[in-house]
Order: sequence, then structure tokens, then C-alpha cells
Amino acid sequence: MIVRNAQLALPNADSPVGGDLRIKDGLIREIGTALSGSDEAIDAEGLLVMPGAIDPHVHFFDPGYNHKEDFYHGTAASASGGVTTVIDMPDTSDPAAIDAASIRAKRDHVAARAVIDFGFFGGISGLLCDDRLEQRIAEMSTEVCGIKTYATSGAEHFPRVSHYQYWRILELTRKHNCIVLVHAEDFDYVNGATPDARAGGDGGMQFYRSRPEIAETLSVFSVSEIAEQLGAQMHIVHLGTARAAEIVAGRRFSSGETCPQYLEFDCNDFERIGAALKITPPVKGPQNKAALWRMLAEGAIDFVASDHAPGTVEEKSTGSIWTDYAGIPGGPILFPYVFSEGYLAGRFGLKRLLQICSQAAAERYRIADRKGSIAVGKDADLVFVDPDGTTLIRGADSLSKGKVTPYEGRTLRGRVIRTMLRGNTVYHADQGILSEPGSGAFVRPNLDDSQ
Ligand SMILES: [Zn+2]
Repeated sequence: MIVRNAQLALPNADSPVGGDLRIKDGLIREIGTALSGSDEAIDAEGLLVMPGAIDPHVHFFDPGYNHKEDFYHGTAASASGGVTTVIDMPDTSDPAAIDAASIRAKRDHVAARAVIDFGFFGGISGLLCDDRLEQRIAEMSTEVCGIKTYATSGAEHFPRVSHYQYWRILELTRKHNCIVLVHAEDFDYVNGATPDARAGGDGGMQFYRSRPEIAETLSVFSVSEIAEQLGAQMHIVHLGTARAAEIVAGRRFSSGETCPQYLEFDCNDFERIGAALKITPPVKGPQNKAALWRMLAEGAIDFVASDHAPGTVEEKSTGSIWTDYAGIPGGPILFPYVFSEGYLAGRFGLKRLLQICSQAAAERYRIADRKGSIAVGKDADLVFVDPDGTTLIRGADSLSKGKVTPYEGRTLRGRVIRTMLRGNTVYHADQGILSEPGSGAFVRPNLDDSQ
């Protein structure tokens, strides 16, 4: 097959290059102009053709909590937003993915449902720091893109990791060449602040006060200091605090991600949006947003992720902010948001956009041998974008099971026209999902890559 007349977004180029792609057996075989051959052709005239976006932080709740989401709806929604690879979190399925056997079982279950490629993170909770800890880490390290942990946990079945347990875990992940991901909120601070915040009232601003900037900063400093002392690889997920992002940027062994929700919203928006904006960690004070954008543009924040975690309408409107579900269905808007508000708004150029949406996560999680850029020999994972189109966000129209979104009614610039996975069109804007459940494949890290 040949993709013709595209504006190609090639790695490290500051502007798109007019050209064609030859695709065979799911791989990019040739990049050039006026490629000859009688192969099937797709005309991409007027469209920017970019590497498929990678969403390295989703919760698809499968198996176990399928009233919220499943791998079919989750991957379909991601595909509609230009994503071709997701990496799913370990703690929001039942059973949790915590060792080789549970990872195999989850993989076999979700593989029949996925329409885009998927990798996993394995999980270690405070309960799992026992004499089988090394065995779990060793057997997971060849199958998963990293090990997810919580410095403060919201789930009883998956409790937090203490500082000393982080020390033990990081000694072992360094030995087994695996990266540790941290949900970084300081347990002591949150535990102390929450009763006071609850006594102060019932609203989004009170929820923010239970987990403000200092809760994130204290935790990020502590856990990344342990990683620094040990020389162990660490990644801080969903940064919402400029100071915390600065700490990460100053570390040698830690990287960081932020999410559109921390770039777009702040705690003052709770008044207008209510529990549709409730996420953990909560959005922070308005002074953070411009600094997060700047650090993302400069590379101090490595990449973006959605932290896709939908709740049902009922779960998102229980009558109290303290019991409303914390999570939003961010998967389908991750790439369209960053394309519109980052690239088209002029906050960064094409080269940085590609790093933020595909390349940097592929390299950090060691899947860049196949994913993350348009290059000969890599998977033909592509997103075709009309930069002159628009995208209206309406929860009811989403392919996710999650319909409650803080972006309701928002219009973004640019429109995803086609999403292609290994040469097959998964999604087309006029036709919806075109692939069968089960067409997505499991992605393992390339163990020859060093982090
Ligand atoms: Zn998450």
C-alpha cells in the first residue's frame, strides 16, 4: 500500500515534508516522493501524517470493573483520538497485574478486545513487599514496560509504598533493569490534611486543599531522592505542580509526565465544572499551568499521558465531592488537545510535538524499536490529521464508556481523520471503528534497549 501526497511529520524535522510512504506487512518500507507501483493507494492530500500517538498511562478496568470501561471501548476511544499504542495500569483490574501469572491472564483476556496495540505496567503495593518481592519484579521485568507504585493510595486492595519499601523495590528494579513509576502524593500530608479539609466543607476547592501542591512536592522530592541515591530509574506520573516538575527535571535518574487536565484546568474551575473535574491528584492552583506548558515545551517534562479513568454518571455524581469517583475519560482527547493547544497554538513546534506525543514515551519504555516515529522498518502506526478541521468534545459522542468529561462543549482546532495500526485503518472520522476486536497486539519492552 502507498500513502500518497502526505505532509509527513518525520523525526527531528521542524516542518512537515511532502511525500509518500510505502507500507507492506504492517511496516513502513520506504519514504520518498512519487513512489511508483500499482499498490493500493490512500491519498493524504492536505493532511499531516504523524506517528500514531502513544498514551503511556490508561486505566481500562479490564477485567473486573467493566461497568466503567473495557479494552474494546477504551482502545476504540483512544484510536478515535489518534492513539495507536496504550500502556495500561496494573491496579485497576481484578485481579491486579502483580506477577507473571496475573499478567499472562490479563493479556489473554484483553487481547481479544483490543483494537490498538497495548503494553502493561506491573504493580507492586505495600502488601507485596514480602519475601517474594524479587521474584515478582524479576518475572515481570521482561513482560511489562515498568512497575507502578503509589506513595499515597486511594484503593484498599493496593496500598501505598513507604519510603523504606521504595528503597527495597528500587534496589531490585535497578538489578533487573526495570523502571518504577510513582503516583507521588505525600501520605503524611494527605492523611493529616484530609480530615481538616472535609471539616471545612463539601466542594472541589476543599478536595484540592486535602492534596495541594506541597503534597506532590514533598513526595516527588523524597521518592526521586531515593532513586537518585541508588541510581535507579524512576518516572513520576501525572505531574500537576510546577515545583515538583522542576525537582524531577533536576534529577539524573527520573523522568516525568503531565496530562492535559493539569495544563487546561485549575482548582478555580471546580466551581463551574464540579465533580466532572475530580481527579487524583487534583488540579492545582492557576499559577502552575503556564509553567507546566513551558517545561513541556523545553523538555523539562518528558511527555504527556491521559490517565484515562472513567467513572459512570452515577459514580461521578454521588452528592458529595468526597465520595464522587476520581477520574476522567481523557484518552480520546490526549492527542487532539496537545495538537491544538500546544502545536497549533504555537507553544512548541512540530519536532517537540512528536517527542511529546510519541517518541519520548517509546524511548523511555523501550518500545522505540517498533513504535514512536515514522521511519523505515518501524510499524506503520500513523495518524492523519486535518489541521484546518475542528474537534467538538461531547461526552455523549465518545467511544469510551466514560461520558462525563470536564471538556464538555469545548472545540479544539484540528481533526483526526484516520488512525492506522500496522498499515490497517482502525478508525476513520466518517466511518468510525473499522477494525475487529482482537486486532491490537501485546507490546513488550525491547530488553536490548538501555533506559
Ligand atoms: Zn492513573
